[in-house]
Amino acid sequence: MNRSLLLSLLMLTAAPVPAGPVSEEASPERQRRADVPQEFDTRWIATRPRTPEGVYPNLPADWVPLPNDRYEVPDGQPLAGVRICVDAGHGGQIWGPTRGYTAGTRGVNTGLTESEANLRTALFLWDLLTQAGAEVTMTRVREDRLTPAPASPDYDGRFEELHIRDDIAEAAGCDYFLAIHHNAPGGNQPDLNYTAVYYFDTAHYDAEYNAAPRYGPRHPDEELTAERVSLARHIQRALSERLGLPVIPIAPGSENDMGHEVPHGDYHVIREIDIPAVLIECSFMTNPDEDLRLNDPARAKAEAIGIFEGLLAHFRENPPRPWSERRSQ
Ligand SMILES: [Zn+2]
Repeated sequence: MNRSLLLSLLMLTAAPVPAGPVSEEASPERQRRADVPQEFDTRWIATRPRTPEGVYPNLPADWVPLPNDRYEVPDGQPLAGVRICVDAGHGGQIWGPTRGYTAGTRGVNTGLTESEANLRTALFLWDLLTQAGAEVTMTRVREDRLTPAPASPDYDGRFEELHIRDDIAEAAGCDYFLAIHHNAPGGNQPDLNYTAVYYFDTAHYDAEYNAAPRYGPRHPDEELTAERVSLARHIQRALSERLGLPVIPIAPGSENDMGHEVPHGDYHVIREIDIPAVLIECSFMTNPDEDLRLNDPARAKAEAIGIFEGLLAHFRENPPRPWSERRSQ
């Protein structure tokens, strides 16, 4: 890999997109993908041919069978009837001189995009949850955007891409929301690698946010926040253990530190939804060793199993509830 390509890969920003001031009107096209097909066969997964530089050309995907045996979920369908939204972050990777929201970060050596890595893990997770009896809504099941690409070259449509994910979960009456991502550091830190599962504390809608007519006033909901913290804690523990990775070090007094072992994160998809929701940064694609592991779908399957095990542990302490029915207004 040449130096300029390596540098450009290292300079990719970490996804997802933090919250920022939003002034756009709701897009009338946001609902276009509310009917995401659910019949996708998760025993198969998309791969793409590589170029010598290690990045994918923009070619149709091949379809190959997953390499591993199925993981046996516990007996008795422990998640029977639980409505869960699985959101594979990003989607519809853009190749060329600009890299917008759609691809996210990417593997430092292999060129595997975060968009694709997230989808692999999400598809495995879908399979596990479905076996366990859950009613799963996927925000996407293939490698594309959820909203039309904007005409302007200066804006990649990231707000619409983020907001539709919550819309899909809400339209399906989901009671839990799991956003799947992979991480990248702010600077050149190739050794960095850990698991982080973020939650948003409902006490952190500030006055400026509540004054925005787009969202209307929102109120602290301690019960909901506590459920989110527990969900994040169980998934972070199980996932890091399954992957053999440390968990995120939370610096005392930092914006991530709310006195819990999991980080607080002001990210759109987990802030704009009124149900237990977590954003899972499984591992770092900028770590060369992790990048190689992620290039094998077996790693995605291990991630899905870790998330699944964490979810089961959470539900053992906090039985599933119809959270969508108590959505705040
Ligand atoms: Zn991301």
